[in-house]
Amino acid sequence: MGLLSEGSPLSWEETKSYADHVRKHGVKQFINQYRKLKDRQKDVLYWGDEVEYMLIRFDHEKEVVQLLLKSTELLSSLQKQNLESKANAQILWHPEYAQYMVEGTPGSPFGCLMAHLNLVEANMKLRRESIGKLLKTGERIASITAFPRVGCPNFTYPSYKPNPTPSGCSSSLFFPDEAIHSSHPRFKTLTRNVRLRRKEKVAINIPIFKDKNTMSPFLEDLSIYGDNGESQNAAKPDHIYMDAMGFGMGCCCLQLTFQACNIGEARLLYDHLAPICPIMMALSAATPIYRGYLADTDCRWSVIVQSVDDRTREERGLEPLKHDRFLINKSRYDSIDSYLSEEGRCYNDLQLVYDKEIYEELMAEGIDDLLSQHIAHLFIRDPISLFEEKINQNDSTDTDHFENIQSTNWQSLRFKPPPPGSNIGWRVEFRPMEIQLSDFENAAYVVFIVLVTRAILTFKLNLLIPISKVDENMVTAQQNNAARLGKFYFRKDILTVNSPPEAAECVGCCERIDEKYTLMTINEIINGKEDFPGLVPMVNKYLDYIECDVDTRCTVLQYLKLISKRASGELLTMAQWTRQFVTNHEDYKNDSVVSDKINYDFLMECDKIAYGEHDCPQLFFKYHSRTRDNIPAAVSKAEANLNRKIYAS
Ligand code: ADP
Ligand code: MG
Ligand code: MG
Ligand code: MG
Ligand code: MG
Ligand code: MG
Repeated sequence: MGLLSEGSPLSWEETKSYADHVRKHGVKQFINQYRKLKDRQKDVLYWGDEVEYMLIRFDHEKEVVQLLLKSTELLSSLQKQNLESKANAQILWHPEYAQYMVEGTPGSPFGCLMAHLNLVEANMKLRRESIGKLLKTGERIASITAFPRVGCPNFTYPSYKPNPTPSGCSSSLFFPDEAIHSSHPRFKTLTRNVRLRRKEKVAINIPIFKDKNTMSPFLEDLSIYGDNGESQNAAKPDHIYMDAMGFGMGCCCLQLTFQACNIGEARLLYDHLAPICPIMMALSAATPIYRGYLADTDCRWSVIVQSVDDRTREERGLEPLKHDRFLINKSRYDSIDSYLSEEGRCYNDLQLVYDKEIYEELMAEGIDDLLSQHIAHLFIRDPISLFEEKINQNDSTDTDHFENIQSTNWQSLRFKPPPPGSNIGWRVEFRPMEIQLSDFENAAYVVFIVLVTRAILTFKLNLLIPISKVDENMVTAQQNNAARLGKFYFRKDILTVNSPPEAAECVGCCERIDEKYTLMTINEIINGKEDFPGLVPMVNKYLDYIECDVDTRCTVLQYLKLISKRASGELLTMAQWTRQFVTNHEDYKNDSVVSDKINYDFLMECDKIAYGEHDCPQLFFKYHSRTRDNIPAAVSKAEANLNRKIYAS
C-alpha cells in the first residue's frame, strides 16, 4: 500500500494542522529531486510484480472457511528468514492493509533480458512455498481479490465483534478493527483519519445481482448490527452496502512497476498505458461477491474507490464550499486525470483540479505545465497520516513529505520519481489488475503488460484517446461480464505516430480527436480485427523483431494464449467462473446469497486449482511455461553474462 514510515502517529486534528507544512515541504522535496534527476539517462528496463495474498483457514469438520488474522506473525518469520539466509533474498515480504494479507515481491527486480520473463512464475511459486511452510493444517494462502464473505458474522479467525461506536477505527457494523494489520500503526491511523476527515463513515454501495428470489427492493435492516441510523441512511436500495476501508483496501491486487530509461520515456509509457488500464481490469475481473452477496459488477475498483473516499460533503459537491478548498471530482483512490507527455496534451479533456499556488511554484522552477499540473493535482489532498518523528525534514535529502501525499493518491497508474540516494531510475506502476487464482495466470498478466510496454516503445504505438473516455471505460470494465460483452473506446489507428501538429503546440488537432477512436470489444482490442492489429499480435510482432530465444518464446506463448482466449471469451474470467460456481451450487437459492457452505466449497475448489490438484478448463488450459528450474543452461548462462556486464558497468 505504498510507503511505510515508522513512528508515532499524530491525531487527526494534529495531522490536519500540519497539512500545509507537509504540502509545502513535499513540493520542495519534489523540486529538489527533480533538479537532480531530470536529466538522468540510460537506465535499463527493470521490472517487478507485487502479488497480494490472503491467508485463510479451513475448518473441514464444520465446513467453514475464514480469513486468518496471522500476518504479523508470518511476516516476522519470513523477514527473519531473509535476514538469516546468507544469499540475497529471492522474495521480499511486505505488510498490507489487512491482518489477513501479505504482499510478496521478487527479491530484486527482473532485468531487461527476455529470459527473465521465465523467472516471474517460478518466483511466484516460491512465494507460495515459503509461506506454505509456515502454515498449520487447514491454513492456506489464496491469491483471490476479495474474500466472498468478508464482513459477514465470524468471517475472521479468531473471530471478533465489530465496534460500530466512534471509539473504533472504522466504526463499522461489519469489519472489526482486529482485521486491520496491527504491527504498524499506519493502517489503523489511515482508517480512522479517512473517517474523521470525511466527518462520516465511508459508504460503499455496489449494485446487487438480482436473481429471481432476491428480496425486492433489496434493503437490509441494519439496526440489527447496532446501526444508529447513519448506515441505514447511506445504504442504497438494491445495493450491497459496506462501511469500512477494509472492504476495499482489504482486497488483493496484482501490480507491476517498471523502470524507464529516462523521465521522458516514463511519461510516455504512463500515458500510453492509461487506455490499457480498463481493458486489463475487465480482462482480470475477479470479484463478483461482497459481504456474502452476488454483486452485479465483476471488479473491486469501485469498492476501493468508495472505501477510502475521505472527501467532505463540501468537496463532493453536496454542500457549498465554505471550509474546504476544492470541489473534487474523485476519491483519492481512482483513475488518473491527466496525461503527462506532450503527445497526450490534446487528449487531456478533464477539468483538472489542482492547487494553483503549488502549480505556480513548480512552473517557476522551470518544470513544464503538464508535470506541474500533475503534481499540483496530487497535492490537493491533505496528508491522511503523519508521524511525529517525520514532521521536520531536510528537504534536499528527504522525500517523506512528498511520498506522504504521492503514496496516498492511489491511482490506476503511478509515476514514480527515483528515490533519493539510490541508483533507481524513473518508474511507472501499473495498478488496475485483479489478482488471479494461479501463479501461471498472474505471471501471464504481468508478462503481457511488460511486453506491451516493449511493443509501445519499439513500434512507437499510439494508444491515446481522450482521458474522459478512459474514465468511461473504467465504468464499463467493472460491469458484469464486461470482458465478453463490454464495448470500450479505443484508438482506431495505433500504428501512426502523432503528426507533428498534434505533438507540438496544438494547432486545431484537438477538434479532430473524436475521429480517432471508436467502440471495440476486448476481443477486438486484444486479438485484432480486419482494420485493427490487436495487442497480442503486436506483442508477437515484437518477439519476432527481437528474435526472442525459443525457450522464452515457448513460455510467453502460453501466457499470450491465456490472454488471447480470455479476451475471445473461450476462457472465462475469474469473476464469471465464480458466478457460475455459485449459481450452480446445490445450496444456492437464487436469492443472491453466498452462504458459508458455498463459500467453503468455492475456496476449497480454488485451492485445488491454484495448487494444480484440479484442472479448471473453463479458466485455463494445461500449460507448459518453462520456469527457473527448467530453463536450459544456455539461457541461464546468457543471463549470468549479462548480469556480470550490468553490475560491472
Ligand atoms: P509499492 O508498494 O510502492 O508499489 P513495492 O516495493 O511493493 O512498491 O513494489 C515495487 C516493485 O517494483 C517490486 O516488484 C520491485 O521488484 C520492483 N522494482 C524495484 N526496483 C525497481 C526498479 N529499479 N525498476 C523497476 N522495478 C523495480
Ligand atoms: Mg500492496
Ligand atoms: Mg507494494
Ligand atoms: Mg510498498
Ligand atoms: Mg504497488
Ligand atoms: Mg486523480
